[in-house]
Amino acid sequence: MRTPIAAGNWKMNFGPRQAAQFASVIRDPLRAISGAEIVLFPPFISIPAVHQILAGTTIGLGAQNLSDQPGGAYTGEVAASMIAELCQWVIVGHSERRHYYGETDALVNSKTRLALSANLTPIVCVGEDLEDREANLTERVITTQVRGSLGDLPAEQIGRVVVAYEPVWAIGTGRAATRQDAEDVIQLIRALMSELYGQGVADNTRILYGGSVTAANIGEFMASPQIDGALVGGASLKPEFVDIANVIASSKAGA
Ligand code: PEP
Repeated sequence: MRTPIAAGNWKMNFGPRQAAQFASVIRDPLRAISGAEIVLFPPFISIPAVHQILAGTTIGLGAQNLSDQPGGAYTGEVAASMIAELCQWVIVGHSERRHYYGETDALVNSKTRLALSANLTPIVCVGEDLEDREANLTERVITTQVRGSLGDLPAEQIGRVVVAYEPVWAIGTGRAATRQDAEDVIQLIRALMSELYGQGVADNTRILYGGSVTAANIGEFMASPQIDGALVGGASLKPEFVDIANVIASSKAGA
């Protein structure tokens, strides 16, 4: 049984003061939820403030990015081992990193390795853009991204990897994928994980959907046995995230 995940990516919102305020508002309602892993991803500078607020709870904390270097003279970068002092999780290869900062599958792969070796749980993002989808290239693009970003990872650590399918055209647009679209691609990702690591690993890998998830549409996604939770952007900046996490936690109860 794959424990579902409710992940909130705050992106470049909430400095330390606001982050602490918002975390205090959602902490108690979130800690009352059982049956899902709940993780917040504040901007780097706000991580210590949120860490303090979450102390003593099982709510997870993560970074939105990590360096591709283990440490040293890399101005402005943050190493996996540093993140691991305060966090358990990290997002790798978000489409905004891929598109605005030129992150390639090879870079995502090395960052994922560094995250794993620092004992972090990486959420590795893949997703096609609108042009790819309209040109019927979704399968090809996802196959290339999964093989390039997730291939050849250490077998003993692969069980920790979480994948997020985030179609770029659905991120921040208010135009979520249909459950069928999400399910089809997630099935493909699972098949690719099976090719890379065997059926057992594929069956145990948690694969999330992300892209304009709201409290109104999350139930539809969670009704799919293929979808193990959500990576939520915009709606994670509001108390609505608590409702989303509640639906994610209750949807697999008794499954
Ligand atoms: C995201 O940032 O990963 C995301 C899915 O954003 P949104 O929920 O706003 O579409």
